[in-house]
This record gives sequence, structure tokens and C-alpha cells, in this order.
Amino acid sequence: MRTLLPASILPASTASATTLAAALAALLSASSAFAADGARPEVDAQAQRLQPKVLAWRRDIHQHPELGNREVRTSKLVADHLRKLGFEVKTGIATTGVVAVLKGGKPGPRIALRADMDALPVTERNDLPFASKATSTFRGETVGVMHACGHDAHTSILMGVAEALAAMKADLPGEILFVFQPAEEGPPDGEEGGAEEMLKQGIFRDFKPEAVFGLHVFSTLNAGKVGYRSGPTMAASDRFNIVIKGRQTHGSRPWGGVDPIVAAADVIGSAQTIVSRRQNISKQPVVVSFGAIKGGIRYNIIPDQVELIGTIRTFDEGMRQAVFKDLVNVAEHVSAAHGATAVAQVPDTKGNPVTVNDPALTAKMVPSLQRAAGAGNVVEMDLNMGAEDFSFYAREVPGFFFFVGATPQGQDPVKAPSNHSPEFFLDESALDVGFRSMLQVTLDYLHGRA
Ligand SMILES: [Zn+2]
Ligand SMILES: [Zn+2]
Repeated sequence: MRTLLPASILPASTASATTLAAALAALLSASSAFAADGARPEVDAQAQRLQPKVLAWRRDIHQHPELGNREVRTSKLVADHLRKLGFEVKTGIATTGVVAVLKGGKPGPRIALRADMDALPVTERNDLPFASKATSTFRGETVGVMHACGHDAHTSILMGVAEALAAMKADLPGEILFVFQPAEEGPPDGEEGGAEEMLKQGIFRDFKPEAVFGLHVFSTLNAGKVGYRSGPTMAASDRFNIVIKGRQTHGSRPWGGVDPIVAAADVIGSAQTIVSRRQNISKQPVVVSFGAIKGGIRYNIIPDQVELIGTIRTFDEGMRQAVFKDLVNVAEHVSAAHGATAVAQVPDTKGNPVTVNDPALTAKMVPSLQRAAGAGNVVEMDLNMGAEDFSFYAREVPGFFFFVGATPQGQDPVKAPSNHSPEFFLDESALDVGFRSMLQVTLDYLHGRA
């Protein structure tokens, strides 16, 4: 815990009787001074100064949501703001990504702060003056677009944190890379995008941080609360596609062909044993879910083939690879037992790795969350079966990704419309909590290492 520094730990050169009082006074007036409870007075001052701006940005971005790799307006808003702050800004990274560096006036560590900017193909059902009426094209269809995952909050909070840190620049030890990332929810079909693409385009090659921080607003926590977890936190997420090929025949004469429907039913049944019989679930949980079955057209035709698609969630890279292998095995061999063949693509596209919070970094930063949000408001979270492409950054350097409650107090967060729902609702006090938390984490880290 950080508290007022006792005189006994001041450097010897400043500890003489004549200079002690002056050194203490300087220490107290410096930007690194702490209040008795460890909360930074400058965090409170900046929160009060910048909350109206953060709120206005959030409502503006909420009303103008853009799908992944299409965040043209949002990234311009971000880039213009960062340029006005005097940062060196790079745009067009991974299509619409923006990065900028703030160099503090004093030597210190290099860190990265990340926000995502994309919205989802969801039609908003909230009755708000700034509700989204935007539409776009997704997979050839016209769809509503909504910030149903709260990335509007992440972007506006980080814009505010950038402005706060710019105001402290002279006394700031170290350098900060701001990462405003597109397409966290995945790029459109046939395109690259998101965190992995930002890294491929060299953002951590040009600026290697020693730690990376990010946050996410979540419906599963009440506003005012901040959640965290050490180690594996959010799941690796992988898609699969299995095509079971038989031979078409009349429904009255199944022996005249090979029935892929019965084979598919057995594949689905046997796949349940991957989790229940083959994975050591005392180590980490695993989920294998089928999301769609497609096959057949008419009641009396046994079709040629059946297609199965689904998702795999894991928290351990070894288990992840083992599940891939097991599912291919089940698909191929169970199909073979029916005389059918399976083409199993497991995974069928690049997935997200598990999001791991570095245990040492987490232990170091949880007190900062407690200072920002109040010790009683910081809670340890269960594993989250959702996925986050923040995982790619946290694979490169130690990462800490924490959660900010979004559901209004007095409402049960278990029953509240979840992220991705057309009724996902952000209690705007979360903007203040998120801002204070991210700023406190940043300042504590930088000053702690200065
Ligand atoms: Zn999402
Ligand atoms: Zn999200």
C-alpha cells in the first residue's frame, strides 16, 4: 500500500535537519504526493475537470457507432484530440487504428494503454436521447449498429486519461503509448484486423512497453465496482467447422446411401465426452458448443452432407491444442464408423488466445484499483468464458486487464441485459470509475518505477 513517505526513507542527502522540512514540502507539493489513504489528489482533480468531456465524447461516439475496420469517424475524433494534446500521432494502423506517444518530462518506464473503438451489428433498443440509429452492411445484409459492448466508453475514457496525463507531462516519469484499436470483435470476412494486426504492423516494435493496461465495462458488475483476476482471466475462443459427407438417397431406402444426419448426431454426442471424459477440468474449465447444424432439404431425402459449426473456449494453451485434436478425431472416426467422411477444420479461422493477467503485475496494481474505486468496491472475478483480443498484447508483454461495472446500482447484474444485447445499458458513472482507475493505475506504475 502506498502512504505518505516517512522521513526515515528519504535519501540521506535530503535528511539533514536543515533540508528535511523543505524536502518534505517539495514532496508533498509534487505531483506524486499521496493523500493519507493513498488516493492521488491529482486523479480526483483531473476526474472532476474532465468528466464532462468524457461524458460528451461517449454520447457522441455512442450515437455514431461504426463496425470493425470501419471506425473512420471515431478514429478521426481520437486522432484530432491526441494531436491537439501535442502527441506524435500515427493513424491508419490495422486500417483505422491510432497510436500516439506521450513523453513525460522525467525518465521512467514505458507502458501502453489500450482502448478498442468498434461497435457491433446490433439494433439498439434503449430509449436514450443519444441512442444509435446507425445502420451499416454486414455480411451483405443491412444491419443496425450499436456500441453494445461498451467500446464507446473505453475510447472516451482513454481520450480523457490522455488529456489528464498531458496536463501532468512535465512531472511525468516515463513514456506512454496510447493504443486505440479497431475491430476487437473481429474484422469483416476476408480482412485482417484487431490487436493481432496492430502488433503485426509493429506498434510494439516501434515502442516496446514493459507493461500494457486495458479495461472493459461489463453488465455483470454493478456500477461503482471494479473487477479483476490474476492469471488466466478471459477464455481463448476458437471457431470450428465440420462437414460430414455421406451419399444422398431416398428416405425410404437408407441402405442405398450413407446417412450423414445420423453420423452428425453421433459426432455431436461423442464430442460431449471431450470435456466430460478427456480434459482435466480440475485444472481449467473447457466448453465445446455447437452453434448450427445445416443439412437436408426435404422430409424424404437423406442428404449428401451435414455441416456443423461451433465454438471452443479454453484457458490453457495445452488444453486448447488437445481439444482441437480430440474434436478432429471424434469427427473423423465417428463419421468413419458410419461409412461417412468428415472434413474437420478445428479451428477454421484464427481465434483469440487466452487473456492472461500477469500475476506479479496484477498483485502490484490491485491496490491502485482499490485507491481509485474504494477498497470495498474492488472484487475478484470468476473466470470469464468470453474472449478479448487484448490477449495478443498481453502475450508480448506483461498485461493487466480489469473490469468496470456498468449495470445501475439496485439492478441485479445477473439479470441485466448483457454486453452484446440490444438493451445493453451503461450507467454513465462507470465512465468516472473507469477514468479514475486507469489514471491511478498509470500514475502509480510510472511513479513506482521512477
Ligand atoms: Zn464484445
Ligand atoms: Zn468488448
